[in-house]
Amino acid sequence: MTVARTSAYRRIATEEAFFTREVMQAYRALLAEPAFDDPGFRRLWGTFLSDRPRTVKLVERLIDLGEQRIADMDASGIDMQVLALTSPGVQAFDAPLARDLAQASNDQLAAAVRKYPDRFAGLAAIAVQDPAAAVKELERGVRTLGLKGAIINSHTRGEYLDDAKFWPILEAAEALGAPIYLHPNTPPRAMIEPFTGRGLDGAVFGFAVETALHMLRIIVSGALDRFPKLQFVLGHLGEGLPYWFFRLDFMHGRMVADKRFAGAQPLARKLSEYFTANITLTTSGMAWQPAIMFAHSVVGAERLMYAMDYPYQYVPEEVLVTDALPLSAADKKRFYQSNAEKVFSL
Ligand code: MN
Repeated sequence: MTVARTSAYRRIATEEAFFTREVMQAYRALLAEPAFDDPGFRRLWGTFLSDRPRTVKLVERLIDLGEQRIADMDASGIDMQVLALTSPGVQAFDAPLARDLAQASNDQLAAAVRKYPDRFAGLAAIAVQDPAAAVKELERGVRTLGLKGAIINSHTRGEYLDDAKFWPILEAAEALGAPIYLHPNTPPRAMIEPFTGRGLDGAVFGFAVETALHMLRIIVSGALDRFPKLQFVLGHLGEGLPYWFFRLDFMHGRMVADKRFAGAQPLARKLSEYFTANITLTTSGMAWQPAIMFAHSVVGAERLMYAMDYPYQYVPEEVLVTDALPLSAADKKRFYQSNAEKVFSL
């Protein structure tokens, strides 16, 4: 089935993945290293880099930044993809390799954007494990390469951005006006074991649990009071968090008032209010009207954007679900086009 593009709005898909051959080879090398101690990575990439026909096709689509991808976008009515190096990007590697591969993949991404400027935009991969280098690469990515923000695939080897050692990255993103897409990663070793026995560690659920926790850690740490203009993008309709707003506000307010935990100090806003000040949600992987409309009702028309999650969830007819959302014409255009143009400075 093919979905036509429309003149009513440009469909900008905002969480779309790619891969470089160099990163793929480095993933294969990690999988071959007996001492590499990340069970989530092994379970995810051990499968995706296997010889199963479905995953071979998936990896081909990830690597293509040309005709195959454009043809798939045309078949699903997508005008533009905002591209990001697929999870966990360079965050699984030792810092020197992570720095090198971040630069190389950002260069390749920028070249693809230059070749197809009306079809592609990109987010910079950064070596979070070396914050000073990550800041430099983010600055190079935005100022020199024309990339539109950073992709951070949740935890970096079990560490979270609420740790102040990472705050130079947040400070730089705020100063550049560059959003951080907080994308899922598999749960780290300290978290994953209860998920694995039933296969629940990946996109089926573990991604959302881990990424939602990460976003909450950032908010509760006060990082968004310290960097009030910083913008995050959170996929999968906010990784479930909008459904929790009432209880998060109630219980966070109470635990802060009771001074129960040194790591949970008073914030400038109610916890849920950061979702209308600093966070924009995307619909990646969640082509389901009731959940989208709920998210729309609690974060508002300005804070919700379309994403497909190509090529992982490449189902062209899912676009018809979002086309049929009961939104006004103005809000539909915000959802597909204007919010992405604003958030990513397209
Ligand atoms: Mn994704």
